[in-house]
Amino acid sequence: MAYLCSTFYCVNASNYITDLSVIAAEAELKEEENRHFLQSLKKYDSTELDGMAHAVNTEVSTAVDCTACGNCCKTLVINVTTDEVDGLAAYFNEPRDTVKEKYIEESQGGNFFINVMPCHFLKDKKCTIYENRFTECRDFPHLHKPGFKARLAGTLNYYGMCPIIYNVVEEMKSRLGFNEVSE
Ligand code: SF4
Ligand code: SF4
Repeated sequence: MAYLCSTFYCVNASNYITDLSVIAAEAELKEEENRHFLQSLKKYDSTELDGMAHAVNTEVSTAVDCTACGNCCKTLVINVTTDEVDGLAAYFNEPRDTVKEKYIEESQGGNFFINVMPCHFLKDKKCTIYENRFTECRDFPHLHKPGFKARLAGTLNYYGMCPIIYNVVEEMKSRLGFNEVSE
């Protein structure tokens, strides 16, 4: 992946912004604009929006290199299913209880999650158990799923930390002709 860097930020060859500090700053600046964008989607058909969002997500996800980012692995609580705890034990060839003790915390409600942030398995921005990573890791940032409009409020919670989300949302604004001044 080719990157073009100025003093201020890096964009990749597709002109998507990937610098996390720029994206975090943009999130603060655009908080109100994003609220208005969310409201502006009411007038669109959900299925048509999904078609556009999935196409945009494919383009952005192809261009943005997650192995140069790893920010979700540093900042999100990763939920893990019981089967995935078993899978982790099998992968490391260790007893389940040992794996739980090392890597997993259990909530009062009995749910499992990775017990540290950044995640144990992140090294140099890359997942060291990539083929065995958890469903939650595979699914984030969920933009391949149906319901872009219904999900956008939740998606925007991560707009300032995930380059894929940031660029998908900005590209959707552009393709929909969203204009903060006139909306
Ligand atoms: S999903 Fe988003 S936050 Fe996670 S590594 Fe990829 S670009 Fe970074
Ligand atoms: S298991 Fe891998 S993909 Fe999932 S949070 Fe940890 S390092 Fe990231």
